[in-house]
Amino acid sequence: MNQLHARTSPAPGARHARRVAAFIWAAVLALSGATLFAMALLLERGREHEISEGQARAVRFVAGAEASLNRTLIGIDLLLADMAEVLRPASDEGGAIYGTVASRLLKSQVNRNLLLRDLALVDSEGSVLVAARRDTERLGMPLPRSFLHAVAGQTAPALVISEPLVNFATTERALYFARPVTLPGQQRMVVVAEVPLVLIANILGQGSDIPGLTVTFERSDGQLLTSLPSVDAKLGTLLSPPLDIGFASGEAHRVAGRLDGSDSIVVARPTLYRTVLIAASVPLDKVLADWRVRERRIMLAAAAFVSVLLLAGAALQWQVRRLALARHEIGQAKKTLDRALGAMADGFLLCDAADRVVAWNDRYLEMFPWLRGVIAQGVPFEALVDAAVVGAVPDGDAAQRAAWREARLSLHRSGSGMCEMELANGTVIHVIERRTPDGGVVGVFRDITTAERALARAKTDAEAANLAKSQFLAAMSHEIRTPLNGVLGMNSLLLKTELTDEQRSYAQTIHSSGKSLLALINDILDLSKIEAGRMELEAAPFEPQRLVSEVVAALSVRAQEKGLALAVESAADVPAVLQGDASRLRQVLFNLVGNAVKFTDQGSVCVQVSQRALADGRVELNIAVRDTGIGIDADSLPRLFQRFTQADSGTARRYGGSGLGLAICREIVDLMGGRISVETDLGKGSTFRVSVPLARASLPAEAQDTLAEVPPDMAGGLRVLVAEDNEVNQIVIRALLEQMGHHVDIVDNGLDVVERVKSGHHDLVLMDIQMPGMDGETAARRIRELPGAAGRLPIVALTANAMVAEREAYLAAGMNDYVSKPVSAKQLAAAIVRAASGVEA
Ligand code: ADP
Repeated sequence: MNQLHARTSPAPGARHARRVAAFIWAAVLALSGATLFAMALLLERGREHEISEGQARAVRFVAGAEASLNRTLIGIDLLLADMAEVLRPASDEGGAIYGTVASRLLKSQVNRNLLLRDLALVDSEGSVLVAARRDTERLGMPLPRSFLHAVAGQTAPALVISEPLVNFATTERALYFARPVTLPGQQRMVVVAEVPLVLIANILGQGSDIPGLTVTFERSDGQLLTSLPSVDAKLGTLLSPPLDIGFASGEAHRVAGRLDGSDSIVVARPTLYRTVLIAASVPLDKVLADWRVRERRIMLAAAAFVSVLLLAGAALQWQVRRLALARHEIGQAKKTLDRALGAMADGFLLCDAADRVVAWNDRYLEMFPWLRGVIAQGVPFEALVDAAVVGAVPDGDAAQRAAWREARLSLHRSGSGMCEMELANGTVIHVIERRTPDGGVVGVFRDITTAERALARAKTDAEAANLAKSQFLAAMSHEIRTPLNGVLGMNSLLLKTELTDEQRSYAQTIHSSGKSLLALINDILDLSKIEAGRMELEAAPFEPQRLVSEVVAALSVRAQEKGLALAVESAADVPAVLQGDASRLRQVLFNLVGNAVKFTDQGSVCVQVSQRALADGRVELNIAVRDTGIGIDADSLPRLFQRFTQADSGTARRYGGSGLGLAICREIVDLMGGRISVETDLGKGSTFRVSVPLARASLPAEAQDTLAEVPPDMAGGLRVLVAEDNEVNQIVIRALLEQMGHHVDIVDNGLDVVERVKSGHHDLVLMDIQMPGMDGETAARRIRELPGAAGRLPIVALTANAMVAEREAYLAAGMNDYVSKPVSAKQLAAAIVRAASGVEA
């Protein structure tokens, strides 16, 4: 099972979200409930407060009203009680009443008392005997007879108050206060004071600022005497229930209002006169009016608050659900990532910025099993390295382990490292570590053991194949060049014989085709040598100007044929002798000048030679080959110095060539540490430039002489023993040597050479290297072992292998010189002269 070890584990999102939502709603409901409860409590308190305030006000008011009412009643009562005294001047002992006097006396009383409208003396039958007002005397008073009887009939005289009655004269309602009076000599009479209801009402309502207040002045049986505000329809009616003494205690009660029956606060107090009482009714509506406004406001505020709570709850729940969803998605993404990391074929390790382990996969532990007990989240990376050093370098000493540990840590700290580590069990692990954007390090560990082995095998295979190719090419060099040598040799012999014109032209065609083929083969061999890294440069003194002249001379025939001018311009300061590989330089130059001639149809080819002194004391030899030819198009330039490339495919058809020349030139110049470049103008011409650094040198003195000179004892020709197994070559060499005036003996194997040398007949041996039986090298050694003159006989190797190492081997075997196949008459002659005159190659 693959799994990723990581610090966080996905939460059971949905369940968690539901729980959080439930909590949120419980909180919202609790808060709402508490708010509403608090609000109700507040309102209730407020209501109670308002009511008790209302009650207190009503109580205060009624107490005040009762006091003023009492004062009024007492005032009237005293006035009436004093009436016998007041009226005394208007009556005599005999019982006569002097109407005018009495009326004046009453009027003065009425004038003194602001409440009184009228004051009258009435008999028990209702007749007004005398009154303060005339109209009352005329029209009488609306007092029922029963009322008067009741007043007059009292045993203990007291004030009696009538029901509200309508005054005949004014048609106004009034209360009539009555008391029995006994004037001297008279029967009992009743003295009556008329007080308009309006005035009493005024007294009742004094100092009241209580909204909705109704004040009633009632009899104890419930009859309404007057009220404020006044309600005419109710005047005189019985209010129910009558307010008994227990009720009328001056305390507040919650009962029906006295007049309108609405739910009210009612406070009643008895007056000093037990039969009448005063009551105040304040409707609860009015008491609570302000409170209701407040109640509405508070309820609105509470509603708003609860709504906000609900909204907040809903928003929270939405947020929680979104969070849960996001967490779920993150969880899913993480699982996907975990699975992907777990399924990785590579090991994986993630450390944080403080270099502590954050996550790894199982593959990682499979690769590094010794970390099993060690790895855990939060463990420092160093602890892993400490544990790993034992597994990675099990046999190392302390120093090796410390070095490994240091190397591993520094790779890790670099944050962009890549390395391969070979573990003790032979596995090779490729480690790539990169820094993450937050400063951590992520590492990927790939087991490349198999790949590594495959690579090693492929490398050996490739090396073997390359070796095989080199060997094949070496073999081919011999196999192709030998017969070609034969063809060319025989052909040049043929050309020296009597031929018809037709035959001569055929033979010349064979000659030129053979030359081209040889050039091609040489090119291919050169390249394969370069490829195999087997091209070695010689370092020998040579004359640069002469080298250039030779190349130009060799190509001048071709130039002439095409009608081109071919010139050399050499700077005066070019050193006469330089140290280097003249033949390779010649090859390069030959190629460049050859191309210039080949790709120029008219105009000229110019070779410029110059030099530049280098800081290290050497000389930079610069050769520019300038032509007025077809030029090279820009597209072909980048590939020009690559193998098998011709500037355009038409060129090959028109001019021939393999496309190898410039590639070889570049490789050679590279080997020499120089540069090759080209400037070209399509249709106008090109300039190829070669620059190579070379040391200054001077020619060895003796070489200068011997080059041209033929030793005197050679004048009559030498006796040359040729060892060569190839019959064609035998014929060619014999022909060449005899043309030079030498005598030729030929053998076809090494053993025979050694035998024939012993005879002492020969001046020189021309030795082929590859021969059946005994090869040339062995034969040369044998000859050198021979005693006397035979052992010192000059030996010139004939070889198709022109490599330096091989040539050195020949010289080591005791040979004096060598000539490369295909053999040219000139080379052969020079080598024979050198060998015969004892000049070393
Ligand atoms: P090849 O054997 O085909 O001449 P090279 O490598 O010497 O091969 O040259 C490659 C190609 O570069 C030629 O085929 C030709 O198209 C172009 N080239 C080389 N030298 C010149 C030149 N002097 N003028 C024009 N084209 C040239």
